[in-house]
Amino acid sequence: MDCCHQPGLLPLEQAKALLNENVKVITKTEMVGLDSALNRVLAADLISPLNIPPFDNSAMDGYALCVSHLPANQQLPLSEKVFAGDVNKHQLKSKHCVRIMTGAPLPCGADAVEMQENTSVDGSLITFKQPISIGNNIRKMGEDITQGQIVISANTLLNSSHIGLLASLGFDQIAVQTRLKVALMSTGDELIAPGNPLSHGQIYDSNRFAIKAMLERLPVEVLDFGLIPDQHSLIKQAFEQADQQADIVICSGGVSVGEADYTKLVLDELGEIGFWKVAMKPGKPFAFGQLKESYFIGLPGNPVSAYITFYKLALLVIAKASAWNYQAPPQISAQTTTALKKRPGRLDFQRGIVSTDAQGQLQVSPTGNQGSAIFSSLSQANCFIVLEQERGKVMAGEWVKIELFASPMI
Ligand code: AMP
Ligand code: MG
Repeated sequence: MDCCHQPGLLPLEQAKALLNENVKVITKTEMVGLDSALNRVLAADLISPLNIPPFDNSAMDGYALCVSHLPANQQLPLSEKVFAGDVNKHQLKSKHCVRIMTGAPLPCGADAVEMQENTSVDGSLITFKQPISIGNNIRKMGEDITQGQIVISANTLLNSSHIGLLASLGFDQIAVQTRLKVALMSTGDELIAPGNPLSHGQIYDSNRFAIKAMLERLPVEVLDFGLIPDQHSLIKQAFEQADQQADIVICSGGVSVGEADYTKLVLDELGEIGFWKVAMKPGKPFAFGQLKESYFIGLPGNPVSAYITFYKLALLVIAKASAWNYQAPPQISAQTTTALKKRPGRLDFQRGIVSTDAQGQLQVSPTGNQGSAIFSSLSQANCFIVLEQERGKVMAGEWVKIELFASPMI
């Protein structure tokens, strides 16, 4: 694979382009029930079988009338009541009005609804206290969605609002892409699974849990291969098993050049893997390529680097292979409240907290120490401060690009 032989530091945009070139869609389509469609990739454009609303109806509790029938004294006798759920077709009696509830079908011949707060009732005579315009408080058939319209495009990752939309259109089965199987493991003799006591020199394995938590929001099934010690034979065995069971194998640690970094050695034996030095910070070491049956992604061991390279690179592999048209969140500008350390050479994803100042302008502050092992810098943040590859030190008050973390809705 020519993607694997780039000399020097690879700009992030080039790394992304190489992933896009080398990864193929490997999902198929299947039908799932509406209750299982969240976080799945829609397989085909979804065409509306209905108008929404399906019939003209009232937006208010009040009175339906025909505006041109309203006499100078603004009074009309009441003829009947229509409730939401009434399936009879009602006809407005000439020079009468109808008591109507929110969501009830508009009687034929009515062209407006007046809210009850603007009326007074005297027995069965209704007085309309204000002038009324045609169309007032009517939800017109098809004003939201018209029958035959594309309502959700193919390759969209379905979120909670899509699920509501699908339900409103009456779908209980949806064609989606199958979920990819992603094998996940951590390597490192120093790592201990949470819940066990630590000895001096040991740390808890956090990468596997952080990455797993991100994977759980994606259209994949996670196969947790646990912790693999820094031993050639055990790493090889784990990679072989993962390759047989998964579509994508993700491993953190061991992709740099330490003496216990066996990943490269093993991968040279098993597949075609490129070790990239991506011009991003945190991040740099990143491995990508192919085992016999699966794509392989090697993330750096440092927790912030693992997290951000997963988010900026591995996510693209998962998206492409799953036929998901993933779009990174847009970048916007904010003024930094403090100076930011930066050297030219790598695209920097500092972690920041964005807020608005007294004038309503966006301002951003870094979350303290930006080292690639400082995970608290990430968990306190709500955005990345994206500092361009060639940019140097940033002074307080300068404008910077920020990228909000992707959680627009739950
Ligand atoms: P490595 O890439 O294996 O050289 O690891 C780089 C740094 O990240 C070392 O300080 C490791 O202890 C740390 N590290 C590696 N894997 C993990 C992990 N799964 N969880 C937390 N820290 C890790
Ligand atoms: Mg290691």
